[in-house]
Amino acid sequence: MRRAVCPGSFDPITNGHVDIIGRASKLYDVVHVAVMINKSKQGLFTVDERIALIKEVTAHYGNVEVEAFHGLLVEYCRQRDIPAIVKGLRAVSDFDYELQMAQMNIGLSGVETLFVPTNPTYSFLSSSLVKEVATWGGDVSHLVPEPVLGALYERLRKP
Ligand code: ADP
Repeated sequence: MRRAVCPGSFDPITNGHVDIIGRASKLYDVVHVAVMINKSKQGLFTVDERIALIKEVTAHYGNVEVEAFHGLLVEYCRQRDIPAIVKGLRAVSDFDYELQMAQMNIGLSGVETLFVPTNPTYSFLSSSLVKEVATWGGDVSHLVPEPVLGALYERLRKP
């Protein structure tokens, strides 16, 4: 079984994430989506809510497994026998940090990182930008899957 992991915070999952996961799912037998838990960062959605949304919008690929992980990504890979990390590269600004992480990860454990160029439609898209625009009532319906849109409206609705 050829396995890869797409890691991230996915708070919440966007069309940009779905695009990368879907492309990875064609290249690998199993794609693990690892929702990395960052205890120092309070998200808009709980980790369980993020996982439920990711499962719902990736179910049709048929080979995507979603779970939370707290710790080093290379440790997650070692425990599950995953040799590759797949990451989307949006712009040159992503590159510096991603290169550092990829080099650290291969040095730590031999796990390779593969970069997939973002679909240009989503090159400006991030979870934080979606949350900011949605908070102020902007239309994000073309940027996130339908179930995420509903969850965003629900969460951000003024009391
Ligand atoms: P963000 O980087 O938006 O805060 P994450 O930490 O959840 O969100 O992102 C996890 C990974 O998903 C990123 O490292 C990147 O590889 C990929 N990704 C995020 N947004 C996009 C996008 N718009 N297009 C392609 N890949 C993306």
